[in-house]
Amino acid sequence: MKLTLQRRQVRVPDGRIGCVLVLPWFTDPERGVVRCDAAPLLVEWMSETLARGAGNDRVVELRAVPGGGEIGAGPSAAGVLSAVSWVGRDGGVGGFALVAHRDDGVASAAVSAAMGRWTALLRSRRLLVTDMPALCRGGRRAARMIDGMARAATRSDGGRVFVVGRPVTGAPWPTGWEQAGVVCVDDLDAVPDGAPVAFPAHGVPPAVRAEAARRRLRVIDGTCPLVTAVQADAAAYAARGDRVVVIGDRRHASLPVLTACAGPAAEVVHDVADVPAAARARDAVSFVIDPGMAVEDALPIVTALRDHVPELAGHHFDVLCDAASDRAQTIASVSSGSELTFVLAADERDPDVRVARRSARFPAVRVVTRLADLEAEPLAGATALGLVVTRSAPAGLREQVVAALAGLGPLTCRRRSVDTTPYPVRAAGPVEDAPAGGAVAERPDSLV
Ligand code: SF4
Repeated sequence: MKLTLQRRQVRVPDGRIGCVLVLPWFTDPERGVVRCDAAPLLVEWMSETLARGAGNDRVVELRAVPGGGEIGAGPSAAGVLSAVSWVGRDGGVGGFALVAHRDDGVASAAVSAAMGRWTALLRSRRLLVTDMPALCRGGRRAARMIDGMARAATRSDGGRVFVVGRPVTGAPWPTGWEQAGVVCVDDLDAVPDGAPVAFPAHGVPPAVRAEAARRRLRVIDGTCPLVTAVQADAAAYAARGDRVVVIGDRRHASLPVLTACAGPAAEVVHDVADVPAAARARDAVSFVIDPGMAVEDALPIVTALRDHVPELAGHHFDVLCDAASDRAQTIASVSSGSELTFVLAADERDPDVRVARRSARFPAVRVVTRLADLEAEPLAGATALGLVVTRSAPAGLREQVVAALAGLGPLTCRRRSVDTTPYPVRAAGPVEDAPAGGAVAERPDSLV
């Protein structure tokens, strides 16, 4: 990788005391127009630097200067432009440039120091980005059904469509649904008689289903077939008199629904530490796994349960969903292969942050909620970067971060996705053809 740096100072006819300009582009006399993709990030860094020091009364603006800062802009020029540019292996040119007034000593000193610090950050880097769908297959299926229902409702009577809960846990509300009249409600009390109502991918408790039938509501059932199968198994295990251990992640919306399907027989287990309490009685015990939990997280719990209850029964691998596993494995693959991983999220509580931290070989995992959270210091020694884009990441943040990193030296960017698919040992179909579940007439059942 060929990396060429040039620094030059020229006068420009723009620049005033009390102001530092960060240029979105400038003109280099030899290289022509130079894009400054990191400029929005540099505005943040410069603002923070000035706020902490003697320049806290200075303002920082992202703005081009007339002529792009060409040399020899005239004797009246009052601004001094400091610029650095590089040429990548493919001939692509990048760089950054700052302007301060020649008589503004504080701003000039800050620019000079920043140019030195930021130039030290320039290097070729590799960026590995998670490529995960916002919605799983079941979520997309439910979204399509709700979308179709909303169109039909709008066409026929201009009415609204009520969704009991979100289409799938943690996913963003699809764009355009609000305008299409799709309304999210917690229960059927908020649904007028005769209105169309949709059940989300993670389903609804049996009581809600029964209430909808009693009121003869127009129902579109978006429950994912895999969820339906697991819920049917839970109900069947309970019906034959077993205690039903429901293994699941407490943050997933399908867990309370699944628990409700097992009724009073349900005992929720979140991790291995919960197992001894759940296995205390000598009842017949069956387990079900909430689809929101990664299979790799659930299986140690099943093993621990079986240590306590050798006659443990439970549902078959056919009804386990790989979506949560694929998501976790994608994040693990990106963070374990990166010296520095940025997790784009609304805050630290996003569950994907925990997954990234758990799987990182290098300890540097940073949560980024906005562009200003990208810090210069960790970038100095890092060439292998990871970017985990969670469902809660603010819209547009991924593009901002990738552009900023591309402005700090030639960037090779790759996407990575883990996608578990059926291997045809015997007939296996897509999620729509999932087994019905609930066929558990007698014990012992198929053991995992
Ligand atoms: S079972 Fe899997 S595919 Fe279906 S809704 Fe849940 S996570 Fe999505």
